Amino acid sequence: MTKKSVNPAPSNESVRLDLHDDSERLKLVIEATGVGIWDWQVQAGILTANDRWAEIIGYTIAELEPLSFDTWANNLHPEDLTQAKDLLEKHWRGESELYQFEARMKHKEGHYVWVFASGKTVEWEESGEPRRMLGTHLDITQRKKDHHQFIMASQLLHESQEIARVGGWELNLETGELYWTDETYRLHDTTPEEFNPTVDAGVGYFLPESRVIISDALNKAVNEGVGYDLELETLTTKGRKIDIRTTCNVTQINGVPVRLTGIFQDISEQKEVQRKLESSNRDLKQANSALQLSAHFDPLTELPNRNLLADRMQQAIVKCARGKRSIAIAFIDLDGFKAINDSYGHSFGDELLRKVATNLYNVLRQGDTLARIGGDEFVAIVSDFETPEDASRPLNRMLDAIARTVDVYGKLLKVSASIGVTFYPQDNTNPDQLLRHADQAMYAAKQLGKNRYHIFDIAHDAAIKSKQEELERLKKALINNEFILYYQPKIDLRSKQVVGLEALIRWNHPDQGILPPNTFLPVIEQDILGIELGEWVIKEAIRQLQTLQAATSSLPISVNISPFQLQHADFGERLGEIIAQNPSFKANSLELEILESSALRDIEQVSRIIKSCNKLGVTFSIDDFGTGYSSLTYLKRLPAEYLKIDQSFVRDMLSDKEDLAIVQGIIELAKAFNLKVIAEGVETPAHGDKLLALGCYFAQGYGIAKPMPASDVIPWLAHWSENAELIDATL
Ligand code: C2E
Ligand code: CA
Ligand code: CA
Repeated sequence: MTKKSVNPAPSNESVRLDLHDDSERLKLVIEATGVGIWDWQVQAGILTANDRWAEIIGYTIAELEPLSFDTWANNLHPEDLTQAKDLLEKHWRGESELYQFEARMKHKEGHYVWVFASGKTVEWEESGEPRRMLGTHLDITQRKKDHHQFIMASQLLHESQEIARVGGWELNLETGELYWTDETYRLHDTTPEEFNPTVDAGVGYFLPESRVIISDALNKAVNEGVGYDLELETLTTKGRKIDIRTTCNVTQINGVPVRLTGIFQDISEQKEVQRKLESSNRDLKQANSALQLSAHFDPLTELPNRNLLADRMQQAIVKCARGKRSIAIAFIDLDGFKAINDSYGHSFGDELLRKVATNLYNVLRQGDTLARIGGDEFVAIVSDFETPEDASRPLNRMLDAIARTVDVYGKLLKVSASIGVTFYPQDNTNPDQLLRHADQAMYAAKQLGKNRYHIFDIAHDAAIKSKQEELERLKKALINNEFILYYQPKIDLRSKQVVGLEALIRWNHPDQGILPPNTFLPVIEQDILGIELGEWVIKEAIRQLQTLQAATSSLPISVNISPFQLQHADFGERLGEIIAQNPSFKANSLELEILESSALRDIEQVSRIIKSCNKLGVTFSIDDFGTGYSSLTYLKRLPAEYLKIDQSFVRDMLSDKEDLAIVQGIIELAKAFNLKVIAEGVETPAHGDKLLALGCYFAQGYGIAKPMPASDVIPWLAHWSENAELIDATL
């Protein structure tokens, strides 16, 4: 007030106003504050109000005129009217100096506005009744709204904090005052009445480890303005342990921290779940590594098992490839372990295995591997040799280590071992094969007398393997009908008559074409497949001869029989069966050629077989005579019909005197034993002439005809009957 009178604002308006007039001044105040003014003649029911009074409820005064008590009462919210009346009565009774009331009044637009009414009775009737009241109306709608929203917001905050178990805290750094929200108290099992929070008290409740962390964090917040977000363990005021998350936000003014605010959140449940998860994860991990252990190690000796051995072998091979040195794979099998196990029992056996394994392990170098892959079977990977020969020392050391006497539960026992060894990269194959090869060699070591090592023979194995593969292939060839028979005629040199056909096998290979017998027969000679193939030849020859015989006079056919086949137990029987299966076939048309060979060792047996075949009507020739055993006993004991002079003598007899002598000798011998003689390898007419001169009447050879497919036989026979002339096949 004093200020204003000293320095009156020099506005035009103020000039017109008489500032000494109170009523003028009041008018200004009323306009500035937006207060509605009312003046009520209580007994007369007349109401006077200013524009603002009407404006609060959306009208102009003119619109409301004439104003009365009812203008007010009718616009009041019905619920508020009774209360208003009560308050008025109270005021009039003198119980309140002022009549004051917050009420809702209906706005012109239909909604209610909040009005703060304040009034006072200024004149009284003599009877003591009120005559005139003066008062104000203040529009408090906005304030009411704000307040309501505030209530709502804080209530919501409160509820959500409770639900989330989140409490808030605030620390005023200037005053040191710490403020906790309700939920923060609740989290600490306490109430504002019971507990007065201070920083020291709060920190004091944290568990030791957490206390260090929170103290540090608070220091940093206070001194450096750095906030935090931590998960810690604390006790409540009642000593209950809880996990909490606590955060801190720093408010700074001019770079100086003035206030810390943050939350407290009870995360005990989450932590519990997390801990359970972690612990079950730990259990899982433990179970896993136990599993892994049993997956890779032998429980008895704790040595690597077969699985780990495979890994180690792979590694050793890789390392070997880099270092250009050899590794030895040693397959170790104890000798006589089973007997010990049987006579002393399993626990004895187990202990023996443990002891032997230890002894063996101790003579190996670091970096070598010893694995147990079965009962008494071990495998050692011994690495780093210049040459396989260098391995003899460590191998002998291993044999010695195993053969050492061991004390098993007070009993002195001794075993030995058979070791099979293969070397990589000399034996250039995969771990599986290496192991198999070492195993094979171990078996050989056993057969050679045990307590020794034996080295796998790579070359021998390769040979066996390729033979095995070839046998498989030939087996398939037989099934697939890839074999065929060629036929080569035999003639009587005197008459030029064809006297027979020799069946000669060929392999009609799908890729390589027609293959001669020397390319495949040696592979199967000693195999059961050779016998099967031999039977096939007999059957096929008989079958084809029958179709030929329809067109020709009955030509005998000769079939070559391997010594192995001939001496096979039931050769005679099988031949009988085959012949019986072809009733139209005359057995005396079949001639079997057998090699004069040391393979026909058991002359008694062979002659028995020949005799039994003779009974069927089948005859025999002794093939390649002169190349083999050539004993007179043969000629005497074997009931054959023909001697076949081998082509190697025949071919060169015209130029080689010795060969001629042999041919002559055989012819004489045949005469002496009353055998017919036939020469093979007759390649020119001159051969034929010479043989005839020597008294050999039968011949076979390229000079007459080369072996031919069955389909060529009839055309050839026709041709030969027209022009029976030998040719020179050497040209
Ligand atoms: P082998 O029984 O001595 O058969 C005669 C071989 O000499 C045949 O060879 C034939 O083609 C060949 N040859 C015939 N005349 C001449 C000639 O004037 N000059 C020359 N350089 N060679 C001639 P092939 O067919 O290669 O047979 C070889 C051997 O294979 C046969 O010798 C026989 O021991 C065996 N063989 C053939 N077929 C069979 C069969 O079905 N079973 C058995 N177990 N062995 C057979
Ligand atoms: Ca022959
Ligand atoms: Ca021959």
